Amino acid sequence: MARLKNNYRRRHNNHPGKSVSDALPAASARRRSIPSAAGGPYKVIPLGGLNEIGKNCTLIEYNNEILIIDCGFAFPEYEMFGIDLVIPDFTYLKENSEKIKGLIITHGHEDHIGGIPYLLKELNVPVYAPPLAMGLIDHKLEEHGLWCETHVIRAGDIFSIGSFRIEAIQTNHSIADSVAYSIRFLGGHIVHTGDFKVDFAPLDGKVIDLRRFAQLGDEGVDLLLCDSTNVMRNGYTPSEAIVRKSIDEIFDNTDKRIIIATFSSNVHRIKYFMEASMKHNRCIAVSGKSMEKVLTLARELGYLNNIPDSLFIRINDIRNVPDKSLTILTTGSQGEPMSALTRMANDQHKSVKLKADDVVVFSSSPIPGNEKVISQVVNQLYEKNVKVVLASAMDVHVSGHASSEELKLIHSLVRPRFFMPVHGEKRHLVEHSLLAQSLGQQSSTIFVMNNGDALVINGRKARLTKGFTSGDDVMVDGYGVGDIGNSVLRERKNLSQSGLVTIAVALDTATGSLMAVPEMRTIGLVYEQEHKDFLDEALSIVYNTIGKCAEAGSLDEQSLSKAIKSDMKGYIYRMTKRSPVIIPIILYV
Ligand SMILES: [Zn+2]
Ligand SMILES: [Zn+2]
Repeated sequence: MARLKNNYRRRHNNHPGKSVSDALPAASARRRSIPSAAGGPYKVIPLGGLNEIGKNCTLIEYNNEILIIDCGFAFPEYEMFGIDLVIPDFTYLKENSEKIKGLIITHGHEDHIGGIPYLLKELNVPVYAPPLAMGLIDHKLEEHGLWCETHVIRAGDIFSIGSFRIEAIQTNHSIADSVAYSIRFLGGHIVHTGDFKVDFAPLDGKVIDLRRFAQLGDEGVDLLLCDSTNVMRNGYTPSEAIVRKSIDEIFDNTDKRIIIATFSSNVHRIKYFMEASMKHNRCIAVSGKSMEKVLTLARELGYLNNIPDSLFIRINDIRNVPDKSLTILTTGSQGEPMSALTRMANDQHKSVKLKADDVVVFSSSPIPGNEKVISQVVNQLYEKNVKVVLASAMDVHVSGHASSEELKLIHSLVRPRFFMPVHGEKRHLVEHSLLAQSLGQQSSTIFVMNNGDALVINGRKARLTKGFTSGDDVMVDGYGVGDIGNSVLRERKNLSQSGLVTIAVALDTATGSLMAVPEMRTIGLVYEQEHKDFLDEALSIVYNTIGKCAEAGSLDEQSLSKAIKSDMKGYIYRMTKRSPVIIPIILYV
């Protein structure tokens, strides 16, 4: 089937078709006065992204129509043994599939697009996304063998999905093509900031459209959903321009190889690394699959137009390049075990053997939870006498999220009737609520919610329904989606902490007598060779248990298995203070 792809390039001020306000009251009447209760109630239902940084997904339901904003995944928590990733629970969407009109994406980070393949496996939903996000989504769909109707959206576009009139607004963030959305319908007007910061000197020159936020505020916004990630940082998040200065300083002051690890999706920053390399007559080698993938996409989209092909060299061919003429761009800024930088640090990389005085730049900050693995890689680099440049010591990275003063600016411009902090852990959401209150917003109009709650707004009234639908984590493990629950996780935790014991017993079906010596194996419990006594005694306990069961006439599989488990559990705990998973295997021959 051919892919349908529409480009909406129309600016709101020369929109040839129906204006976004056609279906709405006149502008003067709208000023600070919408919504009218005449439109009827609507619900805002977060399925993910609250009390966590990850798997953002919010629904707006109005008049039998549902619009989805973002559909991300979260990385598993430390205790989720073996889980690949975590997605929102789509049960409510599956139950209301006929109402779903579309999915709009704010930008291409995984916590906003990573859940899309899993949603599309269940439901057919048209996806609207900015160019880079759409390129990344295309790759995902290909990988999963999926197809859907897709529409590329650019900042300034106005488009309709069902009866929702949507406008994409330019913002700044740590990935190209990030937008906020204004969503209007008869019931109300919602502004969702997406992930953003206020950068007056972004590397692509496209400054956040504050004027538009102010205009929307003048027209009247009844609900603001706003990024809370950096609410606990005072002041302003520095501009990307400051990274440029630090990078120049590094390039000016070394004639050694420069290896830069960064997030592959920060295309504009990577472009700057390329420009700096070009200026210093260095060629560039790229290592790491995700980096190669995003850079190919960025070239297709024209983001790297001024970077000539001749600047690039294959990573396998770097041997012949003098140190002062080489930059390596790599993945692994988060210490990921299989990433290119980690392999370099471990001496496992096929083409890059680190040398003393190589300069390794971490143009990133640790995502919470990754600190330990990153410091392991950093220590390995120090061991090799590599010069390590970290963001904590030099401005080689800045955050993509607004700090408190930028958040205050957005609140003051948009002046929403109701406010719902999003994209944050509990502390971020609560602090964001306090920030809004410090600007005069009444606490009764602020809703700090949980995933699965619903905010029902009807004109000037808003009411919170707790536990409206499931806001649970759905765990993805290999091909399995949602088939792993807490009991399996408990078993995995147990296995990882105390190991496994199997006991095989063969009985004569007719007489119930033992046909062979029971066989016991342990994994991760004790070193079998050195604990012969322990195992011998364990076996004698198995004999006893079988004898007891034979006397009681309960040699059926279930009773015997239960008895062996219980007796062995007690014995092993007495001897080792450990509680391994015990699996009796009973054979009747
Ligand atoms: Zn983001
Ligand atoms: Zn995000």
